[in-house]
Amino acid sequence: MKAIAILPLFTVALLAADFRAGVARIDITPKTPISMSGYAARTGPSEGAVHKLWAKALALEDEHHSRVVIVTLDLVTVPNNLGEKVAERVRERWGLPRERLMLNCSHTHAGPSLLPSSYGLPEAQGEAAVTVAEYTHRVTGAIVELVGAAIHDLAPARLSFGRGAAGFAMNRREPTPEGIKIGVNRDGPTDHDVPVLKVTGPDGRLRAVLFGYACHNTTLGAKFHRLSGDYAGFAQIELEAAHPGATALFLQLCGADQNPYPRGTLELAEQHGKELAAGVEQVLAGKMRKVRAPVRAALDTTQLTFPPYSREIFEARLNDSNRWKAQHARQMLRLYNEGRPIRSIPYPVQVLRFGRDLTWVALGGEVVVDYSLRAKREFPGEETVVAGYSNDVMGYIPSLRVLREGGYEGGDSMIYDGLPGAFDDHVEETIFAAIRTAMRRVGRPLGQ
Ligand SMILES: [Zn+2]
Repeated sequence: MKAIAILPLFTVALLAADFRAGVARIDITPKTPISMSGYAARTGPSEGAVHKLWAKALALEDEHHSRVVIVTLDLVTVPNNLGEKVAERVRERWGLPRERLMLNCSHTHAGPSLLPSSYGLPEAQGEAAVTVAEYTHRVTGAIVELVGAAIHDLAPARLSFGRGAAGFAMNRREPTPEGIKIGVNRDGPTDHDVPVLKVTGPDGRLRAVLFGYACHNTTLGAKFHRLSGDYAGFAQIELEAAHPGATALFLQLCGADQNPYPRGTLELAEQHGKELAAGVEQVLAGKMRKVRAPVRAALDTTQLTFPPYSREIFEARLNDSNRWKAQHARQMLRLYNEGRPIRSIPYPVQVLRFGRDLTWVALGGEVVVDYSLRAKREFPGEETVVAGYSNDVMGYIPSLRVLREGGYEGGDSMIYDGLPGAFDDHVEETIFAAIRTAMRRVGRPLGQ
């Protein structure tokens, strides 16, 4: 009867917490007026704040001390000069390898500006530039400290996963006789999934909830000058009020071509936040799937390439009546004169995998919803969550469909990001090849 004697031990081992989790948060609300990011049409600096902006971190570690840290930011972007600096300092200070740190921003358009990415964007001038530089420096240091605080907080935990839904994301690529415009496209693709990772202590108390949604944080428009996390800020506040002591962390998913609907007022931002929080609550209250060890991580940096743009294209635009186009042409020509026109940019693809049940893909840039829909189709048999806006936000990342259709996300937006223009036709396949490479490194079967 040996088997019976062993059985109770086996059961105890299964029930024990097989993870340790740590949470930390730092208030990153600018204390003085600062230039705001998100809308080119905005005129003045920030005027106070609706609520606090946060950097939050969730450290997760399995029984073999394999560790990952997920950082969520109520910010419009993660510029590469911030992401890489943070990752380097985190590695030196806390010994966390680059592929084990994931940085994601909510893309709130009511957030402060940060120093631009180093690909080619001109820097702001004068006093405003000093404030933005100081703020970027302060946030960089704060995130490094935050990661350490989350690691120091590691304590036994259980993880579970589930999916809910929220319906306010609307495809914004509206077909018109003049081409695709930013508007409302009721027939366009959306992803209304709300993935939820629940972190509880051994006593069952909720310690953290990590949740995501694929939708721009643009309920508040260009005329709004108070700092806010938009709907994602309100959703986090709502969840933390309902679960005192717990930390709610929001991940922006593939929401590049999605806007909240309807939009335009603070009341609507709060309403969408409450709807999203309700979607999360429904998952927390229901049956969730246990998340297992081990934790594995991989990061593959691929290159996204541009078609061969020539100097002549930009010379012809120097006197364009659109001041952004003319400024962009000057900027690109400066790069030609310096002998370094942009032909490609590095693009980070990260995969975190838990046991054999759950894979989180974190992609750089403003990723359109097609990527998440395709990944879920192409990699069945295991829960797959795809976040955009992770590790480096260099510009819009269109699918081949969106690239060919054109419009803002297809390539028109690139002038605001210091990039030469639309990507070439390889963009989607290059990214999926990198996803497959990263998935292979974490042992995920690809199914085909
Ligand atoms: Zn955007």
